[in-house]
Amino acid sequence: MSRPIFFVDEMLNDLAVALRLSGFVSICKKWENDEALVSEAKASNGFILTSDKPLAERCEKGGIGAFLVPIKMDKKEKLVLVLKSAGIKEIYPETICTVCNGALEKAGKDKVVGNVPDTVLETFSEFLVCPDCKRVYWQGSHWKRIKAFLEEVSKEIAGI
Ligand SMILES: [Zn+2]
Repeated sequence: MSRPIFFVDEMLNDLAVALRLSGFVSICKKWENDEALVSEAKASNGFILTSDKPLAERCEKGGIGAFLVPIKMDKKEKLVLVLKSAGIKEIYPETICTVCNGALEKAGKDKVVGNVPDTVLETFSEFLVCPDCKRVYWQGSHWKRIKAFLEEVSKEIAGI
């Protein structure tokens, strides 16, 4: 199964970032109007994620996959709800740029010299680079927290 693309309501930006961390392209921006959002999602065969009930209902009637996501849920609950609703049982950490949705590529020290602080170069030898926005990722201290978060999500969607 190819990975679905998500079209995310601007109000759910935290969910869009969490989906990218999980390896799913998630477009989150201000669309001109609901019609523009719907037609873009339809063209890519994607899912719309929104907190707007009328919009979700209209999508459903129009045959477009849309999930209503309560804005008050915490980030993990939102992510698990969406993945389960979309029938996704597996996530793909470290594959999608959390900023721009680019497909991350593995890189050694030589590729990132000058783009990361020297202390990082001394500590880490493996990096991920986004070919689109040039952002460099490494498994710094924040990574442990992200990894734990994704492991919990992974278990919940697999039903463990
Ligand atoms: Zn990027």
